[in-house]
Amino acid sequence: MDARGLLRRYLEQRRELGESELVLDGLNVDDVMRLLGATGRSIPVSEGRRSVRELVGDQPDDWRTALQDAGVMLERPMPGPKPVPVRATEDFAETSGTAQSIDQTTTADTPDEMATRKKSVVAPKGIVIEPIEAELMPGSIEKLDSLDAIVKTVKKCTRCSLYKTATNPVPGEGDPNADLVCVGEAPGAKEDETGRPFIGQAGQLLTKILAAIDLTREQVFICNVLKHRPPGNRNPLPEEVEACSPYLIRQLELIKPKVIVAFGTFAAQTLLNSKTPIGQLRGLVHQYHGIPLIVTYHPAALLRNPAWKRPTWEDVKLARRILDSSPRS
Ligand code: URA
Repeated sequence: MDARGLLRRYLEQRRELGESELVLDGLNVDDVMRLLGATGRSIPVSEGRRSVRELVGDQPDDWRTALQDAGVMLERPMPGPKPVPVRATEDFAETSGTAQSIDQTTTADTPDEMATRKKSVVAPKGIVIEPIEAELMPGSIEKLDSLDAIVKTVKKCTRCSLYKTATNPVPGEGDPNADLVCVGEAPGAKEDETGRPFIGQAGQLLTKILAAIDLTREQVFICNVLKHRPPGNRNPLPEEVEACSPYLIRQLELIKPKVIVAFGTFAAQTLLNSKTPIGQLRGLVHQYHGIPLIVTYHPAALLRNPAWKRPTWEDVKLARRILDSSPRS
């Protein structure tokens, strides 16, 4: 396939994944330039660290014209947000095809650019979940006044039957003042064995995903929609979600993070009260009780389908941009 075909296929894949914005900052500068044939000159190594926009030309129209010349149909203006510096880790960012893009994203901001970036994150808006009504928080869970109190209550929880087959409850762990909360589906075998979230194979990938945006597990809070393992890792039942989700709601209320990342269809659809497929939920900034919520693929899904690593990388970079643009607390 020739260069233009490759670029067209890349953009078609993005569209299939439900994306409506063009995000080209994940591509290597030299490759994009070759694909666009925009300047007709070779690019010195020293320029490899500059942004694609900078190399194509200062005028936004030049940038758009170059894409159009390459056969790309542009339906609306390109947003062109400035990426934040993010760090690649060997097994996540590099295999997601982003390693070469890391150099581009470390281009230093001028003070003006930094101020502009801090003001807003350019990303399409998603679903808005309004603050919860008291009757949706049954019983005494809404009154639990600390994460420790939630742990104690989860330990003796019999609100659904999962406690009967589980070895240990897995309430969640991390910084009680975390700026970012990761929400998964339910504990698996390793988590059930130890009482800790995301420590199996998928959990190890989650650790790398966090490292790629310069976060450690200890800096965030990690939890699941369900606090007990469904037998044989079967899908959670609606009554189990209904019984268990007040704990998650209360955890999020107490932590008050700056951004929530829902990993996988189940966490995303539960938090957003939606049946929309994950491919259409990701790439947007949703609002969960006033907190920005980003949807991405579950690490276990990435282990089965490595092609999803690149979109996941884009999603977590968006979460990182939201963190960086939030006022300091
Ligand atoms: N998958 C999840 O969704 N959560 C875990 O804690 C582990 C695997």
